Amino acid sequence: MAEKQEQLQLLKSRIADFKAQKLTLDMTRGKPGTTQLDLGNGLLTCVNETNYRARDGIDTRNYGILDGLPQAKELFSQYMGVTPEEIIIGGNSSLNMMYDTFAQLMTYGSSTGGDPWSSRKKKFLCPVPGYDRHFTICEHFGIRMINIDMNPDGPDMETIEEYVKSDEDIVGMWCVPRYSNPTGYTCSAETVERLAVMPTKCKDFRIFWDDAYAVHFLGSGRAPLADLLTACKKAGNPERVFIFASTSKVSFPGAGIAMMASAGQNPAWLKKRLFAQTIGPDKINMLRHVIFFKNMEGILRHMEKHARIIGLKFQAVLDILSAELDGKDMAAWTRPQGGYFISLNTRNNCARKVISMAGELGVKLTPAGSTFPYKNDPLDRNIRIAPTFPDMEDLKKAAEVLAVCIQYVSLAQAG
Ligand code: PLP
Repeated sequence: MAEKQEQLQLLKSRIADFKAQKLTLDMTRGKPGTTQLDLGNGLLTCVNETNYRARDGIDTRNYGILDGLPQAKELFSQYMGVTPEEIIIGGNSSLNMMYDTFAQLMTYGSSTGGDPWSSRKKKFLCPVPGYDRHFTICEHFGIRMINIDMNPDGPDMETIEEYVKSDEDIVGMWCVPRYSNPTGYTCSAETVERLAVMPTKCKDFRIFWDDAYAVHFLGSGRAPLADLLTACKKAGNPERVFIFASTSKVSFPGAGIAMMASAGQNPAWLKKRLFAQTIGPDKINMLRHVIFFKNMEGILRHMEKHARIIGLKFQAVLDILSAELDGKDMAAWTRPQGGYFISLNTRNNCARKVISMAGELGVKLTPAGSTFPYKNDPLDRNIRIAPTFPDMEDLKKAAEVLAVCIQYVSLAQAG
């Protein structure tokens, strides 16, 4: 007891010290830092009045070419591991493409028939902890969400198989298959195969496979990911999956290019909507990306530079968490090999208090519950740490504040 009081006293004096520093640190969103953005500055000048024409004389300044510049489709179909016929390159945001795909399913039903989703009872499986903006899309369209545990080898397949084989209202699922947000986990080949072959009661069941972190490794090379589109085709379910990706965290989040891939009747179904929606995307930006990166090797080399910058930031946070929390049984966290986040679990019923306390000390963290549908983390324990944006000094301070708050809340709660 005396020892606990002593520890609390020590923590209180560290907290007072943080307060006196009047910190204003922000670890809320997974954004690239300025030095990362600088790596892409060549994109700002690589297309000019001498080279805006693409292969075959295509004038990228003009209207047309609904599904993407052929050169960009060639490069990014390699990036996505699909054929150029299967890819559509859009604007700058893959989230926008996901939203539009949902809207199309809601309004018109799927490419393989069935009533519009809006006229049906519908539920979506959501691996948790997961990406808040996916959950926002479901909430926006009134789709009920069901939590599925995200494990180191992907979402809990036994539970998924059980649900989808018997419940016709389960119309689809989310998955960030590689360096998942926020755990950093990557789906195993077995998980991918099971997703492709599992029988589903819903005839137009769809997987939204958001490969947002396709090349975002942190130093140990790109994690392999089995090819879900091919597995679905082989299993006789070619329309089951929509794959999404973007260069938001390769080039620029505000001016990258977004893409999606699909098979069977899906590409034609998607293009029918695109035709009503636009006369053509920004092909100059696509050409910029092709000229700047040249080929897949160019993209991977570029991502090695990103990895060198953010790998150090991840390591700094992990070192502080270890130094402050190892062996105390107060928190467990992931050690990602890629992606943009570290996922940390406190003891049950502590995350909200920790986040609020850190906020009072000037360290803004992603709001409690954000990594769960309806912002409801049933065990109130998950905290998403985003190490990429702050500079190193701020980041270390923020990680220290977080670790001290975790210790204080855990000890105070232990009674
Ligand atoms: N998907 C995931 C899993 C993300 O973490 C993010 C951004 O953080 C996005 C999509 C956003 O992608 P985009 O910038 O292409 O809209």
